[in-house]
Amino acid sequence: MFERYQPDLDAYVRRVRTGPCFVCGIVSRDPDFPEHHVFYEDEAAIAFLNRYPTQYGYTLVAPKEHKEQVAGDFTVEEYLGLQRVVHGVAEAVREEVGAERMYIFTFGSNQGNSHVHWHVVPLTPGTPYEEQQFAAVMLERAGALEIAEEEKASLATRLGRRMEGSQEMDFGG
Ligand SMILES: [Zn+2]
Repeated sequence: MFERYQPDLDAYVRRVRTGPCFVCGIVSRDPDFPEHHVFYEDEAAIAFLNRYPTQYGYTLVAPKEHKEQVAGDFTVEEYLGLQRVVHGVAEAVREEVGAERMYIFTFGSNQGNSHVHWHVVPLTPGTPYEEQQFAAVMLERAGALEIAEEEKASLATRLGRRMEGSQEMDFGG
């Protein structure tokens, strides 16, 4: 459905290791950061599209506050609150793009992109076994999908609507 391309990985690594925090930049709507198509935001969390998606619908969920230890920097309640958002986002993405399987993970490095974030990744239905799991999310191996900004904006709008629906189900009764 989409062509794949290999982004300039050297420039990318330089940026994440020496530039300001990209999640904080997105949270503060810093105009120096490119559009990431935020589609969900509450007091504590934010969700937006991965700028270099290896799968269609690849989303990141992050706390709005700059935290680096994925468990230790949160109280249990804060952590569970973030997981509620991860769950809602994963279901919104799965329903919207028709994933065969959802991958949810966090890696992280203190040396680049240190702001905690969860990867919420739909595996495209029919992906051959050898191209699943790590191979499906490794930018170096899979390449990024070439998705026009208008299409990303449209996807974000659709995901945002699904998040509204799920929030009503959770809290509306
Ligand atoms: Zn940050």
